[in-house]
Amino acid sequence: MRSIRHLARLTSRVSVPRQSDGALVFTRHVASSSAAAEQPEPQPTHTIPPPPPPSVLSRRDRIRDAKPFSDFLTDTFHRQHDYLRISVTERCNLRCLYCMPEEGVPLSPDRNLLTSPEIVMLSSIFVSQGVSKIRLTGGEPTVRRDILPLMHQLGALRPYGLRELCITTNGISLHRKLDSMIESGLTGVNLSLDTLDPWQFQIMTRRKGFDAVQKSIDRILEMNSLGAGVKLKINCVVMRGLNDREILPFVELTREKDLEVRFIEYMPFDGNKWSKGKMFSYNEMLDVIRGKYPDLHKVRDEKNDTSKTWKIPGFAGRLGFITSMTHNFCGTCNRLRITSDGNLKVCLFGNAEVSLRDILRKSNSGDPIDEEAFEAMKQIEMNRRQGLAGTELPLGVAPNEAELLDVIRIAVKGKKAKHAGLGELEHMKNRPMILIARQLISRAMLWSSASPAATSGYFGQQQQLRRLSSSRSLRNDKEDKNQRTARLTHVSESGSAHMVNISEKQVTSRVATAACAVHFSDDTAIKLIRENQMKKGDVLGVARVAGIMAAKRTPDLIPLCHPIAISRVSVDLEVAGNRQIEIRATVSCDGKTGVEMEALTAASSAALTVYDMCKAVDKGMKIEGLRVVLKDGGKSGRWEMP
Ligand code: SAM
Ligand code: SF4
Repeated sequence: MRSIRHLARLTSRVSVPRQSDGALVFTRHVASSSAAAEQPEPQPTHTIPPPPPPSVLSRRDRIRDAKPFSDFLTDTFHRQHDYLRISVTERCNLRCLYCMPEEGVPLSPDRNLLTSPEIVMLSSIFVSQGVSKIRLTGGEPTVRRDILPLMHQLGALRPYGLRELCITTNGISLHRKLDSMIESGLTGVNLSLDTLDPWQFQIMTRRKGFDAVQKSIDRILEMNSLGAGVKLKINCVVMRGLNDREILPFVELTREKDLEVRFIEYMPFDGNKWSKGKMFSYNEMLDVIRGKYPDLHKVRDEKNDTSKTWKIPGFAGRLGFITSMTHNFCGTCNRLRITSDGNLKVCLFGNAEVSLRDILRKSNSGDPIDEEAFEAMKQIEMNRRQGLAGTELPLGVAPNEAELLDVIRIAVKGKKAKHAGLGELEHMKNRPMILIARQLISRAMLWSSASPAATSGYFGQQQQLRRLSSSRSLRNDKEDKNQRTARLTHVSESGSAHMVNISEKQVTSRVATAACAVHFSDDTAIKLIRENQMKKGDVLGVARVAGIMAAKRTPDLIPLCHPIAISRVSVDLEVAGNRQIEIRATVSCDGKTGVEMEALTAASSAALTVYDMCKAVDKGMKIEGLRVVLKDGGKSGRWEMP
């Protein structure tokens, strides 16, 4: 595949004036901020486009014009994911006891991490689908070299629907960068601070820096007094025996200051030596606070808030509690996460991840998309748009956006109703919080005995596929690699799952037959089926319909299956002797891809229906021998199981 730069050179013969016209978000020019000018980091080369006039439209107009929320970001429990958290680095300048080991974490090679253009491209896609809030986190986001230009570019997404741009930080160097961030459109800071005692700070973070954090808090409040409007929340992880005695001093902070102190239940992550005894629960915290402030009362939480909000009458600020360990808030979860190596994670506590980076980089021959490549991509897009009617989309949206959206949709649809409970979380393998920023430190995790939850379903499949790809690279066996990649057409070079591109394939008539059998432990069920005396009704008839229906639903169930127009499905169930039903399902289509998966889905669903309808009379049934027995059409022609 030719690189983007090469293509740009070819297409750039058409000369395009590079001026701002409202749609060309990323070709806008320079902003200089006095605070930013003092920083050594590269400076942004883009102005902040003016946000759309927010209050011109009446509420009624907005409701009338509201677009339905994107199906891509809506899961099967109707949760609409409009909040994206992006980890922008693995690095950190502190070593908090609950988060990072003393020696730090092994860092990924730079090329594995998302570049700023890649972060902007992914953000553009999510914003185009309805994400209205982006939070940058890490690691410590302020240590990323180009954090300021990155935030300026993200701020430029405001005219396209981004309403909140937030950062979670330890505050060590925030005071030096805050003004520039506010110019980019920063709307919220979550600042982690677990103690108000400088000595204890050094114990809990294994570093000095309390004064710098204090300076950041003061600067936010000062900027707010000038109208900056930055929502400030102070995150305090409460650990028994370490800082639980500071709950009340933290509460006192809210007496005069307009900020929210959020107490967080200590959570287990790989390697943070969590124990139930060290966790100080929500109820215990409330008891401590009520002991001194009996008027403490609950206030209404905002929609999708993960924290429970309380207030003390007369106090300027508020108190929040993040109760991940004792009360899950999964029912209203609207968050998605992108790790710093570009994986999409639909749940903080799940192991499931899918690489968006690899899909994005396909448009650049697998290489990281740096500023130069990004500019070239925009040039191509501008050339393409020449003479086309105006488009609403910002330039710089990934050329393979459709494929990315497909994978995002599949991942979101796979999100579970809720994460594991306290008992299970404790034993689950999960990245340490800071390595929610990383992919392959989890290599060890992938090889270790993953929980059943981690090996089942779509993402379980992916992890298994990744195991294969990891083992390939570990052995460094080229021949083996070629053989394996040749077989696993749903796996990219780096081991992440993707749908096979069938656009170049020919439409041909295709057919596939799958078979399986249900074995009964005695002859009771078969007798009842023959006499149609089964309480639940006509077993063979219902199973046949179930098989046909299931074949049509295959792409909804098997993530990497293409939707195809099936022309015929037949499902035959035959009673064989006194203890067995044999099932054969045949599916036909005129299409670009085979129908084996449809046939297998039909046969297995028919078998499951038999099982369901007979389980009251036979607990010892077995479903066996599910296989494809015939496949015809396409490039490989006819194949029949010998
Ligand atoms: N470095 C930044 C910071 O500390 O704010 C951003 C990253 S940090 C991983 C984000 C948040 O995760 C912090 O508010 C921190 O308190 C929280 N956190 C990390 N490990 C935790 C744990 N084991 N239990 C509860 N909260 C944790
Ligand atoms: Fe660094 Fe934040 Fe983790 Fe502390 S919580 S070690 S500041 S990433």
